[in-house]
Amino acid sequence: MNKVEHIGIAVKSIQESARVFELLLGAPAYKEEQVESEGVKTAFYQVGETKIELLEATKPDSAIAKFIEKKGEGVHHIAFDVTDIEKEISRLSAEGFELIHKTGKDGADNKIIAFLHPKSTNGVLVELCQEKL
Ligand code: ZN
Repeated sequence: MNKVEHIGIAVKSIQESARVFELLLGAPAYKEEQVESEGVKTAFYQVGETKIELLEATKPDSAIAKFIEKKGEGVHHIAFDVTDIEKEISRLSAEGFELIHKTGKDGADNKIIAFLHPKSTNGVLVELCQEKL
């Protein structure tokens, strides 16, 4: 793991939360992106070397919609930058971690991503992400 790449925050509305995070961080989102396969809309804010990712559900059955229904808005996941995602997936599987994705898949912000199941990481949803070349 190289660094914390971003922290994902579940929000009901990016449009409404954008103002709050723009004020908090002192800069507007540098990118908004829809990930159709995940039923999610994202907005990214740069904070030094890391980022804040706001996540809004675009479908009622998406993971973000279910998360907000259960827990309300708030921190959703921590994403770590990795150099070789397939190698990290193999390493973590061998260490006994439960992977939601057994292989990397396309994510937002030009990344290949995979999630670990929070039940093997003390309740923290962990995302691995590798920059696409
Ligand atoms: Zn993320």
